Amino acid sequence: MTVITRFAPSPTGTLHVGNIRTALHNWLWAKKTGGQFWLRIDDTDAGRSEEVFVTAIRTDLDWLGLAHDGEERQSARFALYEARFETLRAAGHIYPAYETAQELDLKRKIAAGRGLPPIYDRAALALSDGDRAALEAEGIRPHWRFRLEHSAPIEWDDLVRGHQRFDGATMSDPVIRRADGSWLYMLPSAIDDIDMGVTHVVRGEDHVSNTALQLQMFAAMGATPPAFAHEALLVGSEGKLSKRLGSLGVEAFREQGIEPQAIRALLARLGTSDPVEPIAEAGPLIASFDFARFGRAPARFDDAELAAVNTRIIHSLDFDQVADRLPTGMGRAEWEAVRPNLTVIAEAADWWGVIEGPVESVIDDADRDFLTEAARVAGELDWGADPWHSLTAALKASSGRGGKALFLPLRRALTGRDHGPDMAALLPLIGRARAVERLTP
Ligand code: GLU
Repeated sequence: MTVITRFAPSPTGTLHVGNIRTALHNWLWAKKTGGQFWLRIDDTDAGRSEEVFVTAIRTDLDWLGLAHDGEERQSARFALYEARFETLRAAGHIYPAYETAQELDLKRKIAAGRGLPPIYDRAALALSDGDRAALEAEGIRPHWRFRLEHSAPIEWDDLVRGHQRFDGATMSDPVIRRADGSWLYMLPSAIDDIDMGVTHVVRGEDHVSNTALQLQMFAAMGATPPAFAHEALLVGSEGKLSKRLGSLGVEAFREQGIEPQAIRALLARLGTSDPVEPIAEAGPLIASFDFARFGRAPARFDDAELAAVNTRIIHSLDFDQVADRLPTGMGRAEWEAVRPNLTVIAEAADWWGVIEGPVESVIDDADRDFLTEAARVAGELDWGADPWHSLTAALKASSGRGGKALFLPLRRALTGRDHGPDMAALLPLIGRARAVERLTP
């Protein structure tokens, strides 16, 4: 059996961090099992779906490195839904209902007044052919409900949540199609999961009760259902489902200088029993991915943790992985010299400026003689492979200075700053001419 997973966003907005996590987990599972990862655009709702979001979703997945093996679009599959709908209707699994939204609302209120759960009373099932004809003669078009089987409990072994059990009698027959013929999410998704050969549905636990309903749809269509993994939702670091997380997406991450590898490393492990580690390569994340390691508690997303993972990943990136994002002229040696000082890659440009100049040297009056001597030594010493050690050794001997008094005035004159990359790595890149100029008071 080839594993097939699918990520099924509705193109009504850009992906947020929760969607990204779902996409990643579907991708990781497909990679781990040698299977396929599909993108399914859930665009049955023509009014709310927008092409710009379809494009944005693809671009975001590309940026995250989550390549898909194929793509389907629900809006191109209406003929299939229609055919399945007809079969299900002929077999009595789907029935027309005529209540208006107001009537349904009233029914719910009456039920609530009697202390009963708001379950649809199936009044439409009691209508005779004559009743229906009369309603339709009045111009009332039906919406359509899927008739749940009440004979046996609905059960499955969820890969994250363990054994699940629902009683169909405690649930309303779901509306699957509106009076105008448009589709709600539930049935097309089940039809597609069958038709696309999806073996694992990986999604958020907000879909658990949908799964109970969809399992009956799979059965009604004579299909073996896929396996299900419903993951605990992502919450903000304050522990709540936050509005901010709902709008936090790839664009914001890019603006903050967060690398896709950092997002993958964090979201692959968040909510699992494995520690979050700055793993830039996909391989180890794929190898350690396992639904059994997920807990039931909400996973906490913390920006500070993401930033920390990001920084550590940047420190491990090779020149070739970043070359196209560095200033023109900046080479491997420069990257390697400044990399340990970066929190985001964009900061490399600042250090490139320090190497290239111009730099406003910071020189205290008390250090003028010392720096005059430093400039003289720098001009004469054998620049060789390690000019910083040659320079500081000579100055230590001539001035008697040591530690901070020796190093800091040199760093401030050479870079204009108190802190920065290792001077031994930086000075050869600054070069003799610029060094002498900056050291000269
Ligand atoms: N379009 C649905 C959503 O975004 C897909 C849910 C599913 O994975 O089946 O919630």
